[in-house]
Amino acid sequence: MASIRKFMALFPDEQACRDYLFAARWPRGFICTKCGEMRYCLIKTRNVYECANCKTQTSITSNTLMHRTKLPLRYWMVALYWVASGFPCSARKLARTLRIQQRTADRLLRKIRLAMHKSERIPMLDFWRREKRSEQLPIVRRAMLLMYRKARAFIRKYYGKRVSKWNRLYYYYEYRFRSSNDCNPIAALSKLILSACTTIYTLNEYGMLRERRLPTSSITT
Ligand SMILES: [Zn+2]
Repeated sequence: MASIRKFMALFPDEQACRDYLFAARWPRGFICTKCGEMRYCLIKTRNVYECANCKTQTSITSNTLMHRTKLPLRYWMVALYWVASGFPCSARKLARTLRIQQRTADRLLRKIRLAMHKSERIPMLDFWRREKRSEQLPIVRRAMLLMYRKARAFIRKYYGKRVSKWNRLYYYYEYRFRSSNDCNPIAALSKLILSACTTIYTLNEYGMLRERRLPTSSITT
């Protein structure tokens, strides 16, 4: 399959996954989550980044959907890439492909679907209260019904008729994510990786919450 070949080219080994995650998380270079320092050293034995100022150790997966994972990063990238490139992916298929237990695959996919939900949610619109069904305009009601119908057809096609109520919600998130990110797999991939980061950390990592200390050379001149 063409997209597997593309995956192999993008992520040939564990280090490539780590580089990709690093570039997605810290596009302007490492920034300490605690103090905003940009100098760091890499502790190679455990693959954590230590801040040069406050000695806080940050792993590349901390605060993302892969937080405290024990699986190799490539397994995660396979699952994320699979989902992001728009193919249906069930836990059984994933377990068979990666030779992992069904329960592990289940948990992995559930985390990914939660990340899908988070990436489509807009926190700034949280104050907006949804209207009661009787107060909705007919055009809004019709659009929502149409979307629910499409989502139900998607779930039946990919996951069969017998779906538990709990899973149905997750599949609904998946449908919503897929329908809005179908055309661009790479953008969808980075969206999935970044979505589970909490806002305050992400802002901090970009140095918005604290004033960045200027390098000494620029002060003297
Ligand atoms: Zn620090």
